Amino acid sequence: MEIIKELVPESERKPVIEDCLKVKFGHVFTDHMFVQEYKDGKWQNGVIKKVDNLSLHPGALVLHYGQEIFEGAKCFKTASGKFAMFRIKDNIARMNRSAAKLEMPQMDPEYAERAIKELIKVDERHIPTQEGCSLYIRPFMIATEPGLGVRPSSNFIFCVLLCPVGAYYPEGFKPAKIYSTDKYSRSAPRGTGDIKCGGNYAASLAGGEEAHKHGCSQMLWLDSRTHKYVEEVGSMNVFFVKEGTVYTAPLAGTILPGITRASVITLCKDNDIPVKEEALEIDELCKDIEAGRVTEIFGSGTAASICPVSELVYKEGRYVVSEGKIGPVTQKMYDLIIGIQRGNVEDKYGWLTYLD
Ligand SMILES: *Cc1c(COP(=O)(O)O)cnc(C)c1O
Repeated sequence: MEIIKELVPESERKPVIEDCLKVKFGHVFTDHMFVQEYKDGKWQNGVIKKVDNLSLHPGALVLHYGQEIFEGAKCFKTASGKFAMFRIKDNIARMNRSAAKLEMPQMDPEYAERAIKELIKVDERHIPTQEGCSLYIRPFMIATEPGLGVRPSSNFIFCVLLCPVGAYYPEGFKPAKIYSTDKYSRSAPRGTGDIKCGGNYAASLAGGEEAHKHGCSQMLWLDSRTHKYVEEVGSMNVFFVKEGTVYTAPLAGTILPGITRASVITLCKDNDIPVKEEALEIDELCKDIEAGRVTEIFGSGTAASICPVSELVYKEGRYVVSEGKIGPVTQKMYDLIIGIQRGNVEDKYGWLTYLD
């Protein structure tokens, strides 16, 4: 399969963003996107072309029954001056798992990686070189066949967008507040909680708004069966440091298998920090924070990498973690992940894919 290039004339290309720290996350796009159609039972040649509206029949199945999946990855300027994507193969593999679960076609991982690489190379001048900034990569797939009967679509579009993004923390590495309640559920056992599909996010919005009403930026989701166990937070996996051991919920089908989560677990193990994939009970957690046994909470995800959490709000209680300060494990994980992404810490796991 080929990659066809229909490039925007140089004179019509967008200016490079001067200060990435000022752009709102995902609001600025580069000049080009990659678009590939699936029809007649196979993927067609993909095209790198100007970012423009997609043309869809109003009956397209994605608009009615939400057959949509997506990914999120990043490309960085490394210390050597070369550009590299972080764990992109894992994102493509996860997208294929998401596709299988929503009756969508598999992609050839090598072709998808080449397409993303070629797209970034075409828009290389938009990769931020500023400290703390990067190029966010958003691959997604939608069902395009028209029809109002509920069934899997026969036609799809796979598309990749690129956004120069600033550091997730414009005011620095600042802790977040999180909210929890048993009033909402994000995902159910054997449902879609373990894949990246748009529907999960639509279903999480009302809960997210409830968190905002309580002065928190994110919802800490509890398991939907008992509402006793902590699963994940907003669009991040979540970690707790309890008496020196790092805890995170196991991959039992209801949480998203985060690539940053997997990286944190590997880095803990390699740095002699005990780590357990065990779900904590929310009531115990509140008591443990109050008693000073839980000393750190942090989220992990591509957008923010590591996000320290300073406070948990649950059932009229406000639980402040280690006086709102950023703890040593959180800081260490942040420094290691950012260090590897930027080429300042040795990439001994082979997590970087250079644009060459
Ligand atoms: C994407 C996502 C994460 C984080 O995954 P990464 O691969 O680390 O970016 C965590 N939870 C949910 C619900 C997500 O959608």
